[in-house]
Amino acid sequence: MNQKEFLAKLDQPRIVDAIAEAELQTSGEIRVHVQPKAGGDLRTVAERTFERLGMTKTALRTGVLLFIACEEQRFVILGDQHIDESVPAGFWDEIAAKLTVRFKNGEFTDGIVEAIRAAGDHLREFFPRASDDVDELPNDLSIDA
Ligand code: CA
Ligand code: CA
Repeated sequence: MNQKEFLAKLDQPRIVDAIAEAELQTSGEIRVHVQPKAGGDLRTVAERTFERLGMTKTALRTGVLLFIACEEQRFVILGDQHIDESVPAGFWDEIAAKLTVRFKNGEFTDGIVEAIRAAGDHLREFFPRASDDVDELPNDLSIDA
């Protein structure tokens, strides 16, 4: 499936709502990025994207990126420094593994929403939302052609 077909199947407003909902409970800032192919080592490319999207600039270093190479159906979830200190080993891999199953079943939006909720549940526990929280990173999808 090419990216155009993938995006056509995606319910983007539902994903944006899931991010907004998760961020009501936590200072964490979640973003979803989609591009056709990683075009290199998945993690390295995702780390570069994390930087490029300004995700290292949140006040509490609580950015979380779900990076999706949709034509390869490969994903990685990256947390910024303070998040990664808080998550148990294998935490992100487990979420990514569930996402792989969902994608195989063609449940793209459901899988992404589920991953956002799982990340949000963890973030809420470790990084509760402050009363003066601001939306530091946009909730809409980042899409590279
Ligand atoms: Ca926020
Ligand atoms: Ca946000």
